Amino acid sequence: VEPDGSVMVTAPKRAPKLMIDRFVVQQSRWVKRQKQKIALLQSAYPTLDWQKRIVSYLGNLYQIKFDPDLGEKVHITTGVVQVCPVTGLEEDVRKTLLQWLKQQAQMYIPKQVQVRATTMGILYSNVVLRQQKSRWGSCSTRGNLNFNWRLIHFTTEVIDYVVIHELAHIRHHNHSRDFWRLVARYDADYKEHIRFLRKQHIRVQDL
Ligand SMILES: [Zn+2]
Repeated sequence: VEPDGSVMVTAPKRAPKLMIDRFVVQQSRWVKRQKQKIALLQSAYPTLDWQKRIVSYLGNLYQIKFDPDLGEKVHITTGVVQVCPVTGLEEDVRKTLLQWLKQQAQMYIPKQVQVRATTMGILYSNVVLRQQKSRWGSCSTRGNLNFNWRLIHFTTEVIDYVVIHELAHIRHHNHSRDFWRLVARYDADYKEHIRFLRKQHIRVQDL
């Protein structure tokens, strides 16, 4: 199944058409599943696409441009993020941009946790940003909070929801009704944000 959803069959030169047709019918369930997977990936929010050279940062989409004469590592303007890798090599664009995104996350997320913890009246120990494949955030019983730095792709509302969610876990170490009531008090649109995050598929090969 090709990325555009079309189906290609490879068969020996002299294979009768009838046999090929029968094979396709037999595999139809598998084909359907692959097509669904493709559709799901395409419906996801674009976070970082090296082929299309686009990156999402705080909910806005930017075109990635390589500028060897930039004079700074990364410069962001409306709709465009210009990248100038240290070595001046195109292949280092990715590394430089990812480093910059990580730095932005490091500046933004812990600050947001501090702000939210104050309004919610919750005490926490530490905030650590990580690269997690399957989690947006977590909270330990000691009150240490972990966040996926790739949250920086999303809107501040979505980031705020994850922050509220993890802070609420310091009070309720479960997903009980009381827990959700606490989340809802600080994020009225939390259900919408959950739906949004469920659709995200950050793939390891992006990194
Ligand atoms: Zn949770």
